[in-house]
Amino acid sequence: MAAERPQSRLNAEVAGAGVVGLACATELLARGVRVTIHERGPRVGAEACSWYAGGMLAPWCEGESAEEPVVRLGQQAADWWERHACSVTRNGTLVVAPSRDRSELRRFGQRTSHFEELDGEAIAGLEPDLAGRFARGLFFAEEAHLDPRTAIVALADRLVSNGAAIHVNSAVEPADLDADVVLDCRGLAASDALPDLRGVKGEMLLLRSGDISLSRPVRLLHPRIPLYIVPRADGLFMVGATMIESGERRRISARAMLELLGAAYALHPAFAEAEVVEIGTDARPAFPDNLPRLTRRGRVIHVNGLYRHGFLLSPAMARMAAEAALNPQSTPEMLHDLAA
Ligand SMILES: Cc1cc2nc3c(=O)[nH]c(=O)nc-3n(C[C@H](O)[C@H](O)[C@H](O)COP(=O)(O)OP(=O)(O)OC[C@H]3O[C@@H](n4cnc5c(N)ncnc54)[C@H](O)[C@@H]3O)c2cc1C
Repeated sequence: MAAERPQSRLNAEVAGAGVVGLACATELLARGVRVTIHERGPRVGAEACSWYAGGMLAPWCEGESAEEPVVRLGQQAADWWERHACSVTRNGTLVVAPSRDRSELRRFGQRTSHFEELDGEAIAGLEPDLAGRFARGLFFAEEAHLDPRTAIVALADRLVSNGAAIHVNSAVEPADLDADVVLDCRGLAASDALPDLRGVKGEMLLLRSGDISLSRPVRLLHPRIPLYIVPRADGLFMVGATMIESGERRRISARAMLELLGAAYALHPAFAEAEVVEIGTDARPAFPDNLPRLTRRGRVIHVNGLYRHGFLLSPAMARMAAEAALNPQSTPEMLHDLAA
């Protein structure tokens, strides 16, 4: 017999069908709430920062520059995505540096945990196409990755088949929605309600090459511009991503293009012949401490500030948002209560 869904009399409206809005809707629906999602774009992902993500679920690597909650809460992500959306590739993360930047590898290792040190032979064992290219590396075996576009489309489809409604071309003002509970998941567009939200621009490329294959994300360290390459299906590689203090969402600079292509070429010269399939740019929504936040103002809960961790932290943030929405007395971690 199918497990019965817990029943709740509440109805919720969610503004924004990026990764955060869809994850929150999933957690609310699982608790028996009736859920309607409003998305201003013509389809899920069309106007979302989430569309441009690398899809790395790399809590320990992120610990190099992120605070402790990112590392801890991010460890829930891979299982959650597998349960609610799509398969996740659990092949770990490889971190390498050209020999002139060996000190970067040491520094990265000092600031992170859950890795093993590799020599050139072990690197070639993991990624045969990188044989002879790097003498040292770090391997974070417990990390994972997914294709973010597949994941958010699968999450949206699952929501609809489980009874949620998704309205596209529906730009809403969360404070005007009259549901029992309103979740504002508008990403950077919510800066009208969250004045300390800022944009951190990220530029990325999609390349296609049949001459190289990788089994896992590879991070290439560099003192100024650490970059990464994430393999996807059909010979596609996502090369990302710049980090620029700017809310500008559309234009890629010549410098960024040079740096991204340079990183791909430094990883393997076969990328010189790759097809440039797509150039993508968006701005990550971030608070000053680069940590995500739930901001409760009466009926409205703003879920925002996912910065470079939308896929890594949405599962944990969505659980906390659902808890805060269903139980106004609760004070989950990351919650900031404001007067309505
Ligand atoms: C290049 C790049 C690489 C990245 N790589 C990774 C990675 O590897 N791993 C990771 O975890 N994170 C990564 N990120 C970060 C991640 O993409 C963001 O943290 C995440 O997308 C933020 O999600 P969000 O749902 O808050 O915002 P968004 O994805 O922007 O979603 C907000 C949605 O709200 C909609 N909206 C706005 N206003 C309204 C309105 N008035 N009414 C209705 N709808 C509205 C928008 O159209 C949009 O669809 C990366 C980001 C970039 C730019």
